[in-house]
Amino acid sequence: MSEEAYRRIPVWKDVPLEEWQTYRWQMANRLQTVEQLRQVIRLTLSEEHAVTRRSGRFIMAIPPYWAALMDPDDPTCPIRRQAVPVEDEYHLSPNDLIDPLGEDSHMPVPGLVHRYPDRVLLLVVEVCAMYCRFCTRSRVVGTSAGFSKPMNIDHAIDYIKAHRKIRDVLISGGDPLTLSDERLDEILAKLRAIPHVEFIRIGTRNPVTLPYRVTESLCAVLRQRKPWMSLHFNHPKEITEPVRRACGMLADSGVPLGSQTVLMKGINDRPAIMKKLFHELLKIRVRPYYIYQCDPVKGTSHFRTSVSTGLQIIEKLRGHTTGYAVPTFVVDGPGGGGKIPLMPNYVVSMKDGVWTLRNYAGKSFTYTEETANGSGARQASIEPSYALIP
Ligand SMILES: *Cc1c(COP(=O)(O)O)cnc(C)c1O
Ligand code: SF4
Repeated sequence: MSEEAYRRIPVWKDVPLEEWQTYRWQMANRLQTVEQLRQVIRLTLSEEHAVTRRSGRFIMAIPPYWAALMDPDDPTCPIRRQAVPVEDEYHLSPNDLIDPLGEDSHMPVPGLVHRYPDRVLLLVVEVCAMYCRFCTRSRVVGTSAGFSKPMNIDHAIDYIKAHRKIRDVLISGGDPLTLSDERLDEILAKLRAIPHVEFIRIGTRNPVTLPYRVTESLCAVLRQRKPWMSLHFNHPKEITEPVRRACGMLADSGVPLGSQTVLMKGINDRPAIMKKLFHELLKIRVRPYYIYQCDPVKGTSHFRTSVSTGLQIIEKLRGHTTGYAVPTFVVDGPGGGGKIPLMPNYVVSMKDGVWTLRNYAGKSFTYTEETANGSGARQASIEPSYALIP
Protein backbone atom coordinates (compact mmCIF):
# COMPACT_ATOMS: atom_id res chain seq x y z
CA MET A 1 0.00 0.00 0.00
CA SER A 2 1.33 3.41 -0.92
CA GLU A 3 2.06 5.81 1.88
CA GLU A 4 -0.57 8.18 0.49
CA ALA A 5 -3.32 5.56 0.61
CA TYR A 6 -4.78 7.49 3.55
CA ARG A 7 -6.21 9.95 1.01
CA ARG A 8 -8.92 7.42 0.13
CA ILE A 9 -10.41 8.20 3.54
CA PRO A 10 -12.55 11.32 3.03
CA VAL A 11 -11.65 13.15 6.28
CA TRP A 12 -7.96 13.02 5.43
CA LYS A 13 -8.09 13.43 1.64
CA ASP A 14 -6.70 16.96 1.80
CA VAL A 15 -3.95 16.37 4.36
CA PRO A 16 -0.60 16.94 2.66
CA LEU A 17 1.85 14.05 2.97
CA GLU A 18 4.43 16.28 4.70
CA GLU A 19 1.92 17.05 7.41
CA TRP A 20 0.71 13.46 7.68
CA GLN A 21 4.32 12.42 8.27
CA THR A 22 4.72 14.58 11.37
CA TYR A 23 4.41 13.22 14.88
CA ARG A 24 2.74 16.43 16.01
CA TRP A 25 -0.11 16.26 13.46
CA GLN A 26 -0.63 12.54 14.10
CA MET A 27 -0.85 13.00 17.88
CA ALA A 28 -3.18 16.01 17.55
CA ASN A 29 -5.51 14.09 15.25
CA ARG A 30 -5.76 10.78 17.09
CA LEU A 31 -9.16 9.07 16.98
CA GLN A 32 -10.71 9.19 20.43
CA THR A 33 -14.48 9.24 19.86
CA VAL A 34 -17.05 7.06 18.18
CA GLU A 35 -17.81 9.82 15.65
CA GLN A 36 -14.18 10.02 14.60
CA LEU A 37 -13.96 6.22 14.30
CA ARG A 38 -17.10 6.12 12.15
CA GLN A 39 -15.40 8.34 9.60
CA VAL A 40 -12.75 5.66 9.09
CA ILE A 41 -14.31 2.23 9.64
CA ARG A 42 -17.73 0.61 9.61
CA LEU A 43 -18.19 -0.13 13.30
CA THR A 44 -19.77 -3.34 14.53
CA LEU A 45 -22.37 -3.13 17.27
CA SER A 46 -19.89 -4.59 19.72
CA GLU A 47 -17.28 -1.94 18.86
CA GLU A 48 -19.88 0.81 18.95
CA HIS A 49 -21.07 -0.22 22.42
CA ALA A 50 -17.56 -0.63 23.76
CA VAL A 51 -16.39 2.76 22.49
CA THR A 52 -19.40 4.67 23.78
CA ARG A 53 -19.44 3.01 27.17
CA ARG A 54 -18.83 5.63 29.79
CA SER A 55 -17.37 3.88 32.77
CA GLY A 56 -14.49 1.52 33.28
CA ARG A 57 -13.16 1.69 29.76
CA PHE A 58 -9.41 1.51 29.12
CA ILE A 59 -8.44 4.67 27.25
CA MET A 60 -8.65 4.64 23.46
CA ALA A 61 -6.53 6.76 21.12
CA ILE A 62 -5.54 5.79 17.58
CA PRO A 63 -3.14 7.81 15.42
CA PRO A 64 -4.44 8.34 11.87
CA TYR A 65 -1.34 6.48 10.64
CA TRP A 66 -2.49 3.30 12.42
CA ALA A 67 -6.18 3.87 11.66
CA ALA A 68 -5.46 4.03 7.93
CA LEU A 69 -3.98 0.52 8.13
CA MET A 70 -7.18 -0.89 9.66
CA ASP A 71 -9.54 -2.81 7.40
CA PRO A 72 -12.72 -0.66 7.32
CA ASP A 73 -14.98 -3.65 6.70
CA ASP A 74 -13.36 -6.51 8.54
CA PRO A 75 -13.61 -6.41 12.35
CA THR A 76 -11.18 -9.35 12.58
CA CYS A 77 -8.38 -7.26 11.01
CA PRO A 78 -5.36 -7.68 13.30
CA ILE A 79 -4.47 -3.98 13.11
CA ARG A 80 -8.02 -3.00 14.01
CA ARG A 81 -8.42 -5.51 16.83
CA GLN A 82 -5.33 -4.20 18.60
CA ALA A 83 -6.73 -0.66 18.68
CA VAL A 84 -10.54 -0.67 18.69
CA PRO A 85 -12.33 -1.76 21.88
CA VAL A 86 -14.98 -4.50 21.74
CA GLU A 87 -17.55 -5.58 24.28
CA ASP A 88 -15.43 -8.59 25.27
CA GLU A 89 -13.25 -6.15 27.22
CA TYR A 90 -16.00 -5.92 29.81
CA HIS A 91 -16.20 -9.64 30.22
CA LEU A 92 -14.16 -10.51 33.29
CA SER A 93 -12.63 -13.95 33.64
CA PRO A 94 -11.95 -15.41 37.09
CA ASN A 95 -8.27 -15.51 36.09
CA ASP A 96 -8.09 -11.76 35.41
CA LEU A 97 -5.83 -9.65 37.58
CA ILE A 98 -5.48 -5.87 37.86
CA ASP A 99 -1.70 -6.04 38.23
CA PRO A 100 -0.89 -9.42 36.66
CA LEU A 101 2.88 -9.14 37.11
CA GLY A 102 2.74 -7.91 40.69
CA GLU A 103 4.62 -4.78 39.67
CA ASP A 104 3.07 -2.47 42.22
CA SER A 105 4.37 -4.62 45.07
CA HIS A 106 7.89 -4.59 43.59
CA MET A 107 8.13 -0.79 43.41
CA PRO A 108 10.57 0.55 45.98
CA VAL A 109 9.82 4.05 44.64
CA PRO A 110 6.95 5.09 42.35
CA GLY A 111 7.64 4.06 38.76
CA LEU A 112 10.60 1.79 39.49
CA VAL A 113 10.11 -1.99 39.44
CA HIS A 114 13.01 -3.88 40.97
CA ARG A 115 12.37 -7.58 40.44
CA TYR A 116 15.73 -8.97 39.34
CA PRO A 117 18.88 -8.19 41.36
CA ASP A 118 20.89 -6.70 38.51
CA ARG A 119 18.26 -4.78 36.54
CA VAL A 120 15.29 -2.49 36.94
CA LEU A 121 12.27 -1.38 34.98
CA LEU A 122 11.93 2.41 35.02
CA LEU A 123 8.46 3.69 34.07
CA VAL A 124 8.94 7.27 32.88
CA VAL A 125 5.54 8.18 31.42
CA GLU A 126 1.92 6.93 31.29
CA VAL A 127 1.17 8.12 27.76
CA CYS A 128 1.34 6.09 24.52
CA ALA A 129 0.82 7.05 20.89
CA MET A 130 -1.73 4.27 20.59
CA TYR A 131 -3.37 2.31 23.39
CA CYS A 132 -3.23 -1.42 22.78
CA ARG A 133 -6.35 -3.20 23.95
CA PHE A 134 -4.31 -5.99 25.58
CA CYS A 135 -1.90 -3.69 27.43
CA THR A 136 -0.29 -5.42 30.41
CA ARG A 137 -0.07 -2.08 32.23
CA SER A 138 -3.59 -0.87 31.53
CA ARG A 139 -3.96 -0.23 35.27
CA VAL A 140 -1.59 2.76 34.97
CA VAL A 141 -1.24 3.51 31.24
CA GLY A 142 -3.38 6.44 30.15
CA THR A 143 -4.03 7.44 33.78
CA SER A 144 -2.41 10.13 35.86
CA ALA A 145 -0.12 7.80 37.81
CA GLY A 146 2.50 10.56 37.63
CA PHE A 147 5.55 8.58 36.51
CA SER A 148 6.71 11.45 34.32
CA LYS A 149 6.86 13.93 37.21
CA PRO A 150 10.48 15.06 37.45
CA MET A 151 10.40 14.42 41.19
CA ASN A 152 9.45 10.75 40.73
CA ILE A 153 12.08 10.15 38.07
CA ASP A 154 14.70 11.81 40.26
CA HIS A 155 13.76 9.56 43.18
CA ALA A 156 14.05 6.52 40.95
CA ILE A 157 17.45 7.66 39.70
CA ASP A 158 18.61 8.20 43.30
CA TYR A 159 17.53 4.64 44.08
CA ILE A 160 19.53 3.31 41.12
CA LYS A 161 22.55 5.35 42.24
CA ALA A 162 22.33 3.88 45.71
CA HIS A 163 22.09 0.26 44.51
CA ARG A 164 25.36 -0.69 42.90
CA LYS A 165 24.14 -4.12 41.83
CA ILE A 166 21.89 -2.49 39.23
CA ARG A 167 23.78 -2.69 35.96
CA ASP A 168 20.83 -2.66 33.54
CA VAL A 169 17.99 -0.13 33.28
CA LEU A 170 14.96 -0.76 31.08
CA ILE A 171 13.17 2.51 30.38
CA SER A 172 9.49 1.93 29.69
CA GLY A 173 6.01 3.31 30.48
CA GLY A 174 3.62 4.01 28.75
CA ASP A 175 5.85 4.85 25.85
CA PRO A 176 9.09 6.71 26.59
CA LEU A 177 9.15 8.10 23.05
CA THR A 178 6.08 10.20 23.83
CA LEU A 179 8.51 12.35 25.83
CA SER A 180 10.37 15.08 23.97
CA ASP A 181 13.85 14.39 22.64
CA GLU A 182 15.20 16.86 25.21
CA ARG A 183 13.51 15.12 28.15
CA LEU A 184 14.58 11.70 26.94
CA ASP A 185 18.14 12.94 26.52
CA GLU A 186 18.10 14.32 30.05
CA ILE A 187 16.97 10.99 31.54
CA LEU A 188 19.51 9.04 29.47
CA ALA A 189 22.28 11.44 30.50
CA LYS A 190 21.44 11.03 34.19
CA LEU A 191 21.53 7.25 33.86
CA ARG A 192 24.76 7.33 31.87
CA ALA A 193 26.35 9.36 34.68
CA ILE A 194 25.88 6.43 37.10
CA PRO A 195 29.10 4.38 36.89
CA HIS A 196 27.54 0.97 37.65
CA VAL A 197 24.79 1.33 35.00
CA GLU A 198 26.37 -0.34 32.00
CA PHE A 199 23.36 -1.24 29.88
CA ILE A 200 20.33 0.89 29.03
CA ARG A 201 17.43 -0.03 26.81
CA ILE A 202 14.25 1.76 25.83
CA GLY A 203 11.05 -0.26 25.55
CA THR A 204 8.85 1.46 22.98
CA ARG A 205 6.06 0.72 20.52
CA ASN A 206 6.16 4.15 18.98
CA PRO A 207 8.28 3.19 15.94
CA VAL A 208 5.52 0.65 15.14
CA THR A 209 2.31 2.52 16.00
CA LEU A 210 3.53 5.94 14.84
CA PRO A 211 6.86 5.60 12.99
CA TYR A 212 7.07 9.32 12.21
CA ARG A 213 8.32 9.76 15.77
CA VAL A 214 11.72 8.57 14.58
CA THR A 215 13.48 11.71 13.37
CA GLU A 216 17.04 12.83 12.79
CA SER A 217 16.97 14.72 16.06
CA LEU A 218 15.88 11.62 18.02
CA CYS A 219 18.58 9.59 16.30
CA ALA A 220 21.18 12.17 17.33
CA VAL A 221 20.22 11.63 20.99
CA LEU A 222 20.42 7.85 20.57
CA ARG A 223 23.77 8.01 18.82
CA GLN A 224 25.16 9.93 21.74
CA ARG A 225 23.60 7.98 24.65
CA LYS A 226 23.81 4.54 23.04
CA PRO A 227 20.79 2.70 24.44
CA TRP A 228 19.46 -0.52 22.95
CA MET A 229 15.80 -0.63 21.94
CA SER A 230 13.04 -3.17 22.50
CA LEU A 231 10.28 -2.65 19.98
CA HIS A 232 6.92 -4.40 20.01
CA PHE A 233 5.59 -5.98 16.83
CA ASN A 234 2.64 -8.37 16.73
CA HIS A 235 1.73 -8.86 13.06
CA PRO A 236 3.46 -8.72 9.65
CA LYS A 237 0.97 -6.03 8.53
CA GLU A 238 2.66 -3.66 10.97
CA ILE A 239 5.79 -3.62 8.83
CA THR A 240 4.98 -0.80 6.43
CA GLU A 241 7.25 1.44 4.38
CA PRO A 242 7.38 4.16 7.09
CA VAL A 243 8.19 1.50 9.71
CA ARG A 244 10.99 0.13 7.50
CA ARG A 245 12.35 3.66 7.19
CA ALA A 246 12.14 4.30 10.95
CA CYS A 247 13.89 1.03 11.84
CA GLY A 248 16.51 1.70 9.17
CA MET A 249 17.26 5.09 10.71
CA LEU A 250 17.54 3.57 14.18
CA ALA A 251 19.79 0.74 13.00
CA ASP A 252 21.94 3.16 11.00
CA SER A 253 22.31 5.17 14.23
CA GLY A 254 23.85 2.13 15.87
CA VAL A 255 20.86 1.19 18.02
CA PRO A 256 20.57 -2.61 18.40
CA LEU A 257 16.90 -3.45 17.87
CA GLY A 258 14.90 -6.27 19.43
CA SER A 259 11.20 -7.04 19.24
CA GLN A 260 8.73 -8.42 21.72
CA THR A 261 5.51 -10.03 20.55
CA VAL A 262 2.38 -10.75 22.53
CA LEU A 263 0.76 -14.02 21.49
CA MET A 264 -2.92 -13.34 20.79
CA LYS A 265 -5.86 -15.40 19.63
CA GLY A 266 -6.92 -14.61 16.07
CA ILE A 267 -4.06 -12.12 15.63
CA ASN A 268 -0.81 -14.07 15.51
CA ASP A 269 -1.53 -17.51 16.96
CA ARG A 270 -0.60 -19.40 13.78
CA PRO A 271 3.01 -20.48 13.14
CA ALA A 272 2.89 -19.21 9.53
CA ILE A 273 1.99 -15.68 10.66
CA MET A 274 4.71 -15.61 13.30
CA LYS A 275 7.28 -16.94 10.86
CA LYS A 276 6.36 -14.28 8.32
CA LEU A 277 6.58 -11.60 11.04
CA PHE A 278 10.01 -12.73 12.21
CA HIS A 279 11.37 -13.00 8.66
CA GLU A 280 10.14 -9.49 7.92
CA LEU A 281 11.76 -8.25 11.15
CA LEU A 282 15.15 -9.69 10.21
CA LYS A 283 14.89 -7.84 6.90
CA ILE A 284 14.65 -4.54 8.79
CA ARG A 285 17.43 -5.53 11.21
CA VAL A 286 15.17 -6.21 14.19
CA ARG A 287 15.95 -9.34 16.21
CA PRO A 288 12.89 -11.19 17.60
CA TYR A 289 13.56 -11.32 21.36
CA TYR A 290 10.51 -12.61 23.24
CA ILE A 291 7.06 -14.03 22.51
CA TYR A 292 4.91 -13.44 25.56
CA GLN A 293 2.08 -15.63 26.63
CA CYS A 294 -0.74 -13.06 26.99
CA ASP A 295 -0.83 -11.90 30.62
CA PRO A 296 -4.10 -12.33 32.52
CA VAL A 297 -4.84 -8.60 32.41
CA LYS A 298 -8.35 -7.54 33.33
CA GLY A 299 -10.62 -7.69 30.27
CA THR A 300 -8.24 -9.50 27.91
CA SER A 301 -9.42 -13.10 28.14
CA HIS A 302 -10.67 -12.93 24.53
CA PHE A 303 -7.05 -12.48 23.41
CA ARG A 304 -5.58 -15.36 25.39
CA THR A 305 -4.49 -18.61 23.74
CA SER A 306 -3.48 -21.85 25.38
CA VAL A 307 0.16 -22.04 26.52
CA SER A 308 0.75 -24.97 24.16
CA THR A 309 -0.06 -22.67 21.22
CA GLY A 310 3.18 -20.81 21.97
CA LEU A 311 5.13 -24.06 22.27
CA GLN A 312 3.77 -25.25 18.92
CA ILE A 313 4.92 -22.02 17.32
CA ILE A 314 8.46 -22.45 18.67
CA GLU A 315 8.43 -26.09 17.56
CA LYS A 316 7.60 -24.97 14.00
CA LEU A 317 10.37 -22.34 14.00
CA ARG A 318 13.41 -23.72 15.83
CA GLY A 319 15.61 -25.56 13.35
CA HIS A 320 13.18 -24.89 10.53
CA THR A 321 14.39 -21.34 9.97
CA THR A 322 17.19 -18.89 10.84
CA GLY A 323 18.04 -19.07 14.51
CA TYR A 324 17.94 -15.28 14.77
CA ALA A 325 14.29 -15.46 13.73
CA VAL A 326 13.37 -17.57 16.76
CA PRO A 327 12.56 -15.63 19.94
CA THR A 328 12.25 -17.11 23.41
CA PHE A 329 8.70 -17.96 24.43
CA VAL A 330 8.03 -16.78 27.99
CA VAL A 331 5.25 -16.78 30.52
CA ASP A 332 5.51 -13.87 32.92
CA GLY A 333 4.81 -15.56 36.24
CA PRO A 334 1.57 -13.99 37.56
CA GLY A 335 2.15 -12.23 40.84
CA GLY A 336 5.78 -11.37 40.12
CA GLY A 337 7.59 -14.55 39.05
CA GLY A 338 9.37 -12.81 36.21
CA LYS A 339 9.78 -14.22 32.74
CA ILE A 340 9.81 -18.00 32.68
CA PRO A 341 11.06 -19.54 29.41
CA LEU A 342 9.26 -22.51 27.88
CA MET A 343 10.70 -24.74 25.17
CA PRO A 344 9.41 -27.78 23.39
CA ASN A 345 11.12 -30.78 24.92
CA TYR A 346 14.10 -32.09 22.97
CA VAL A 347 15.33 -34.56 25.61
CA VAL A 348 14.07 -38.08 24.92
CA SER A 349 15.95 -39.61 27.85
CA MET A 350 19.18 -39.43 29.84
CA LYS A 351 20.86 -42.31 31.64
CA ASP A 352 24.40 -42.45 33.05
CA GLY A 353 25.54 -39.50 31.01
CA VAL A 354 24.06 -40.73 27.77
CA TRP A 355 21.60 -38.20 26.45
CA THR A 356 19.09 -39.20 23.84
CA LEU A 357 17.89 -36.08 22.10
CA ARG A 358 15.60 -35.42 19.18
CA ASN A 359 16.25 -32.79 16.55
CA TYR A 360 13.80 -30.39 14.89
CA ALA A 361 12.83 -33.07 12.35
CA GLY A 362 12.07 -35.63 15.06
CA LYS A 363 15.17 -37.79 14.56
CA SER A 364 16.96 -39.14 17.61
CA PHE A 365 20.64 -38.64 18.38
CA THR A 366 22.74 -39.59 21.39
CA TYR A 367 25.36 -37.45 23.05
CA THR A 368 27.60 -39.24 25.53
CA GLU A 369 29.24 -37.21 28.27
CA GLU A 370 32.90 -37.89 29.11
CA THR A 371 32.07 -39.19 32.57
CA ALA A 372 29.79 -41.84 31.15
CA ASN A 373 32.69 -44.04 29.96
CA GLY A 374 34.25 -44.87 33.29
CA SER A 375 35.82 -42.25 35.55
CA GLY A 376 33.76 -39.64 37.34
CA ALA A 377 30.55 -39.76 39.19
CA ARG A 378 27.54 -41.53 37.80
CA GLN A 379 24.68 -39.19 37.22
CA ALA A 380 21.06 -39.63 37.92
CA SER A 381 19.00 -40.52 34.92
CA ILE A 382 16.40 -38.35 33.40
CA GLU A 383 13.36 -40.12 32.12
CA PRO A 384 11.11 -38.71 29.47
CA SER A 385 8.93 -37.51 32.33
CA TYR A 386 11.63 -34.85 32.75
CA ALA A 387 9.68 -33.24 29.98
CA LEU A 388 7.32 -30.67 31.37
CA ILE A 389 5.91 -30.41 27.94
CA PRO A 390 4.39 -33.16 25.82
C1 LIG B 1 11.08 -7.88 31.50
C2 LIG B 1 11.60 -7.23 32.68
C3 LIG B 1 12.96 -6.95 32.79
C4 LIG B 1 13.97 -7.30 31.71
O1 LIG B 1 14.09 -8.68 31.56
P1 LIG B 1 15.07 -9.28 30.43
O2 LIG B 1 14.85 -10.74 30.47
O3 LIG B 1 16.46 -8.87 30.85
O4 LIG B 1 14.69 -8.66 29.14
C5 LIG B 1 13.39 -6.35 33.95
N1 LIG B 1 12.55 -6.03 34.96
C6 LIG B 1 11.23 -6.31 34.87
C7 LIG B 1 10.36 -5.97 36.00
C8 LIG B 1 10.70 -6.91 33.74
O5 LIG B 1 9.40 -7.15 33.65
S1 SF4 C 1 2.35 0.74 23.60
FE1 SF4 C 1 2.89 -0.70 25.26
S2 SF4 C 1 2.41 0.42 27.14
FE2 SF4 C 1 1.36 1.49 25.47
S3 SF4 C 1 -0.69 0.61 25.42
FE3 SF4 C 1 0.56 -0.55 23.95
S4 SF4 C 1 1.31 -2.32 25.16
FE4 SF4 C 1 0.59 -0.76 26.64
